[in-house]
Amino acid sequence: MTQVKNNQVVLRNYVTGFPKESDMNIVESVITLKLPQGSNDVLLKNLYLSCDPYMRALMSNMEDLEGFQTYTPGSPLTGYGVSKVLESEHQDYKKGDLVWGITKWEEFSFIPSSLIHFKIEHTDVPLSYYTGILVSLNTGMPGMTAYAGFFELGSPKKGENVFVSAASGAVGQLVGQFAKLAGCYVVGSAGSKEKVDLLKNKLGFDEAFNYKEESDLNTTLKSYFPEGIDIYFENVGGKTLDAVLTNMRVHGRIPVCGMISQYNLTQPEGVTNLANLILKQVCMEGFMVTAFYHLYPKFLEFILPHIREGKVVYVEDIAEGLENGPAALVGLYSGRNFGKQVVVVAHD
Ligand code: NAP
Repeated sequence: MTQVKNNQVVLRNYVTGFPKESDMNIVESVITLKLPQGSNDVLLKNLYLSCDPYMRALMSNMEDLEGFQTYTPGSPLTGYGVSKVLESEHQDYKKGDLVWGITKWEEFSFIPSSLIHFKIEHTDVPLSYYTGILVSLNTGMPGMTAYAGFFELGSPKKGENVFVSAASGAVGQLVGQFAKLAGCYVVGSAGSKEKVDLLKNKLGFDEAFNYKEESDLNTTLKSYFPEGIDIYFENVGGKTLDAVLTNMRVHGRIPVCGMISQYNLTQPEGVTNLANLILKQVCMEGFMVTAFYHLYPKFLEFILPHIREGKVVYVEDIAEGLENGPAALVGLYSGRNFGKQVVVVAHD
């Protein structure tokens, strides 16, 4: 039986505050590449791993995570990824299939077939897209998150004013492009000059600004939206949300996708301008992409032609090698990533 080395990214201990690379170890283990007889697992070779902000919550010693299991210190991280089937006794998956689902942060994994969400059928688009624009089934699934949050909760109308925070990221870059497809005026905020250039020159945003350089976000927003904001796609929370609230228009919508500025704080910041929701009759609604599973076929029908025709582009930040996974993951919380953060374990 073949035994091979199997590098893993293992959580050292539960994390408080901002996660660091040193919160994870690269551990060299070995694995026998053979399924035990009668096993319900599928033996996978992992190719692409997705880095997602929600993974921070799983590094905490928390109980109330709405059904999500926190990571176990000493064990590999888990997350979404693209993998190749090496061996399977499950009728839906055979050797050589490419699959999408929950896997472990290691080179080879035994994964229960129930955690594999689907076999990848469309292989004429980059496989790494399945970690970002093309996936559907749970938190951290940027394409479907942008689609559901913007179209279902945002209910955009032609000519409306849209603001997106964390706009160059995995979700935000798509929200901006969807807003343009819907005929809206869209402004994005991001954390560096390079990201602002990307938004304006490659992703088609009408305007963009570096929020780190703005001392008064309220005034900044007023200058970009003299008539107010109809849709704010919320990714960051904190001071940005507070400034947005005073700049919303009557009957505006705020799909609350994420609040990454708050995830690593031991004491979350307060929000002081909520009374605007009443006066302006704004609908602010949190959502989990998990509630929108049923829209995936509709989403694919919408997005695949746009990708193939180059009408929607997707910017990825590819970290080569599992050993670079910890840096890639913690980089999400300081804005080190430039687009969707992916870790390549192997190319095939
Ligand atoms: P991402 O934008 O690719 O990466 C995170 C980005 O957040 C960083 O690049 C950084 O960009 C920005 N950021 C980090 N710390 C910040 C801070 N203190 N203040 C402002 N910006 C900060 O990640 P993503 O996957 O697209 O996720 C975006 C948001 O959507 C997150 O809040 C995530 O939790 C949420 N999400 C929710 C769902 C759902 O089902 N509700 C699903 C997927 C994602 P800058 O350089 O611009 O600061």
